[in-house]
Amino acid sequence: MNPEQLRQRLEFYQDLGFKDIYRRPQQPIVEPPVEMKIIPPDIQLPSLVPENDTLERISADIGDCQRCRLCKGRNKIVFGVGDPGAKLVFVGEGPGADEDEQGIPFVGRAGQLLTQMIEGTSAKEGIPLKRGDVYICNVVKCRPPENRTPEPDEMEICGQYLFRQLSAIKPKAICALGSTAAKALLGGKDGVTKLRGKWHKWNDIPLMVTYHPSYLLRPYNQNAKRESWEDLKKVLHFVYD
Ligand code: URA
Repeated sequence: MNPEQLRQRLEFYQDLGFKDIYRRPQQPIVEPPVEMKIIPPDIQLPSLVPENDTLERISADIGDCQRCRLCKGRNKIVFGVGDPGAKLVFVGEGPGADEDEQGIPFVGRAGQLLTQMIEGTSAKEGIPLKRGDVYICNVVKCRPPENRTPEPDEMEICGQYLFRQLSAIKPKAICALGSTAAKALLGGKDGVTKLRGKWHKWNDIPLMVTYHPSYLLRPYNQNAKRESWEDLKKVLHFVYD
C-alpha cells in the first residue's frame, strides 16, 4: 500500500467515526515451514470505496444483507430513492413500518411531510424542484424493531453503504435529518439544536443538519418547524441558485 492509499484508508476509517488507531506490536519473525504458501508483499487489498462506484453496484453488494441483527425483522431493504445524479441528498435515520413494507424511504407520515417541505418550500422560493429530483436515503437500510434508534454497530456496518452512496452520487449538498443522521455523518455528540442551521462538511461536501420530519409532526414542536423551513431554504438556494 503506498502512502496515498494509506492516507485514503485512514480518512475512510475517520469518516466511520474511528478516532484512534493502534499499531500492533511487532510479531517475532517466524520462518515459515517450507510447505506454507507465501503471500507476495505487493498484494492489493480491495479498496473499501471502489473506484467508479455506482448505486447499482452498491445495491448488488448489499444483496440479501445479513450483516447485522436488523435483517431479522425486516421485510424489505430500503436502499434509497431519487435521481442518482441528484445535486441534493437527504439522509434520514432508518425505515419505519411503511418504508419497510414498500422498500422506499420516507413514504409514511414523516415522508409526506418531507415531500411537502421539499416541494412546498422550493415552489415558494421559485425553484422548480420535485421530490424525484433529489435523492433520499437513510443511515440504516433495515427497519429497527419498534422504530428504535439504530445501535452504533448497526450504524457503522450500514454506514459504509451510505458513504458509498454519497460518494457515488457526489451531490452539491447533503441535508442530514435529525441527530442519528448528523452523528453518522459528522461524528461527535452534539444534537440537532446545536448543529442545525449551519454548514458543516462531509468529505468536502457541504452538509446542513436540520430536524427530522417525525420530530416536526409533534404538535408542541411548531417552533422547530419554522426553523426547519429556514434551514431548507438555505440548502435549496445554495444548491439550485
Ligand atoms: N424516518 C426515517 O428516518 N426514514 C424513513 O425512511 C422514514 C422515516
